[in-house]
Amino acid sequence: MDISTAYKDNNYKIHVDRNILKNVLQTYTKQYESVYYIIDENIYDIYKDSKLSFIISPLVVTGGESFKYVSPLMHTMEALLASGIKRNSLLVVIGGGATGDAGGFIASIILRGVDYIHVPTTLLAHDSAIGGKTAINSEHGKNLIGAFYRPRAVIYDLEFLDSLPEDEVLSGFGEVFKHAMLHSPALLDELMAATENSIDITALPPYIIKGIETKMKIVIEDEHESGSRKFLNLGHTLAHAVEYKYKIPHGQAVMLGIIAALYISNELNGAGFDLDAYIAYIRRHGYPVQLLKEMDIDEMMHFMQKDKKNHRSDYISYVVFEDKNTPAVTDIKIEDLQNMLTALKERI
Ligand code: NAD
Ligand code: ZN
Repeated sequence: MDISTAYKDNNYKIHVDRNILKNVLQTYTKQYESVYYIIDENIYDIYKDSKLSFIISPLVVTGGESFKYVSPLMHTMEALLASGIKRNSLLVVIGGGATGDAGGFIASIILRGVDYIHVPTTLLAHDSAIGGKTAINSEHGKNLIGAFYRPRAVIYDLEFLDSLPEDEVLSGFGEVFKHAMLHSPALLDELMAATENSIDITALPPYIIKGIETKMKIVIEDEHESGSRKFLNLGHTLAHAVEYKYKIPHGQAVMLGIIAALYISNELNGAGFDLDAYIAYIRRHGYPVQLLKEMDIDEMMHFMQKDKKNHRSDYISYVVFEDKNTPAVTDIKIEDLQNMLTALKERI
C-alpha cells in the first residue's frame, strides 16, 4: 500500500508492505548518480545475507539512541565525504527511529542537504514516517538539535518487524495505540479486539497504516506545532518522566502515560473511560504497570515541570480528552496534577 503525503509541496510516498525494499528502492536509486547507505548494525547483522545482500559497502553504524550524538554523527559524515558523496547523491537510512532521526539530520546538513530515503525497521518508527522531524540529542536533553527535513520517500518493509524483540514490539505498539485513540473510539475498539490477548505483528498492518494516516492528517493541519499537533503528545508528558527515570523503551512509557491521561480525563471532564479495562489490557500484554504504583510523584512532577511544552509557570500542559472523541490540550495546576497522580497510584 502506498500513502502519499498531502503537504502543499515537497510531497513524498510512504510505501508500506512486506518484502518491498529492493524493488521499490530501485525505482528511486536509478534517478541518482550515486547512492550511500547508513544501516543500523543490528539490522545489518540479521539481514546482510538476505534482504540486504544487494547493498555494496554500506556504512554500518551502532544504531539505537547512542547514534543520536554529535560524535557518531561527525564520524559518519566524514566517512560519507571520504567516499565521495555529492549534492546529487541519495542517502538511504535503514534502521529504527533513532537511526532515522540521526540519518535524516545528516541528510539535512551534509553538503547543505542531500536527498534521503528512510527505511524504518521498528514498529515505533511508523511514527517518524511522517512529520519531517530529524534530530540528535544534546547533554541538555533529547532531540534538541535538529531540523525539519522531509525524505524523498519512506519504504516501510514490514518483513523487518519479524525480528523485532518483544520489548520493542510493546514500545512501538504504544504509539500505534495512541494513533488509534486519536483517530476514533471505533478504531481503538477494533484494535483492542484484534489484540485482545496478545500483540500479533501480522494483525497490525491495517492499524500501522491508519496510524500513519492519522498522524498525517494532524501534522498537515499544523506543521509547526502550534495547535492540534500537540495532540500527538498524548501520554507523553508523564512518559518522558517515567522513561527518563526508569529507562524503559519510549512507547512503553507512552502506554503508561496514556493510562494517566485517561484517568485525568475522567477526573477533570467526566470523559467516562473504563480505566480498569485499559489497565487490565496493558497488564495482560506485559507493560510495566507497576511503575504507575511505584513512581515517586515528587520526582515525576520535577521532570514534568521541565517539559519544553509548558508555557505557564505553576501549570503543566497536558493532553486529555474532553469526551471519548475529543482530545484537548489543557494547563493543569501543578498541585492538582500531583493530587490526581497520587490518587491514580492508589487505583493500580
Ligand atoms: P531504535 O532505532 O533505537 O531501535 C531500537 C533497538 O532495536 C535498537 O537496538 C535497534 O538496533 C534494534 N532494532 C531495530 N530494528 C530491528 C529489527 N527489525 N529487528 C531487530 N532489532 C531491531 O528505536 P525506535 O524505537 O525505532 O526509535 C526511537 C527513536 O525514534 C527515538 O530516538 C525517538 O526520539 C525517535 N522518534 C522520532 C520521531 C520523529 O518524528 N522523528 C517519532 C518517533 C520517535
Ligand atoms: Zn512518542
